[in-house]
Amino acid sequence: MSDCLFCKMVAGEIPADVVYEDDDVLAFRDINPQAPTHVLVIPKEHMATINDLSAVDAQIMGRLFLAAKKVAEQEGIADVGYRTVMNCNEDAGQTVFHIHLHVLGGRRMTWPPG
Ligand code: AMP
Ligand code: ZN
Repeated sequence: MSDCLFCKMVAGEIPADVVYEDDDVLAFRDINPQAPTHVLVIPKEHMATINDLSAVDAQIMGRLFLAAKKVAEQEGIADVGYRTVMNCNEDAGQTVFHIHLHVLGGRRMTWPPG
């Protein structure tokens, strides 16, 4: 999508601090980190929210988690622990409407989330 921030990052039109990339997935550091490690894992293909997913997207959603696992290993937080979050729509606080999996770690997380 031409007016999507994250599609522009996939296309290289907007800079991204990339920590992992493969054919289907891009992972880059969040510009406003909420933890010492805060990485966003996105599908290269545009999809706006969880509500837009269909059965054919099951594999790419799994790939997001496999990439999150790799990022956690790279960042040295796999064993101590980390949190993955995917916000959907307004009440969850979604602000960028290209699906992204937050990978947060490097500090103790609280529960319930805010
Ligand atoms: P969400 O609120 O779940 O939609 O998350 C969107 C995330 O994108 C926020 O944590 C923002 O800080 C992050 N973000 C927005 N613009 C950029 C950017 N140019 N580069 C990296 N992260 C960004
Ligand atoms: Zn997009």
